[in-house]
Amino acid sequence: MDDCIFCRIATGKLASDIVYEDNDVIAFTDINPEAPTHLLVVPRRHIASLNTAEPADAELLGKAMLTAASLAKQRGLDGPGYRIVANTGKEAGQTVDHIHFHLLGGRFMSWPPG
Ligand code: AMP
Ligand code: ZN
Repeated sequence: MDDCIFCRIATGKLASDIVYEDNDVIAFTDINPEAPTHLLVVPRRHIASLNTAEPADAELLGKAMLTAASLAKQRGLDGPGYRIVANTGKEAGQTVDHIHFHLLGGRFMSWPPG
């Protein structure tokens, strides 16, 4: 989808700070980091959000989650902890309608989120 910013990143049409990629998933630094580590883990295939994800997407979404966990471990965040967030819908703060998982870590995080 040419009008989707994360599709453009996934196809190399828009530059980003890519930290990991394979055939299914890409991960890059969030342009507006909210923590010392703030990565976005994004399935290459365009899925708008968890609201439109289907059972056939389960393996892909599981892979994205495990990729986030692996990236967290590489950065030594598995000890202190980290947060994975999938904002879904406007009220939850989703601004990019291509499913993505935020990986946040490197500072203490409060609960509940704002
Ligand atoms: P959300 O608000 O949950 O949909 O998350 C979208 C995230 O994408 C925000 O944290 C933005 O800072 C981030 N973002 C938007 N455009 C870019 C970009 N070109 N490169 C990296 N991150 C981006
Ligand atoms: Zn997209």
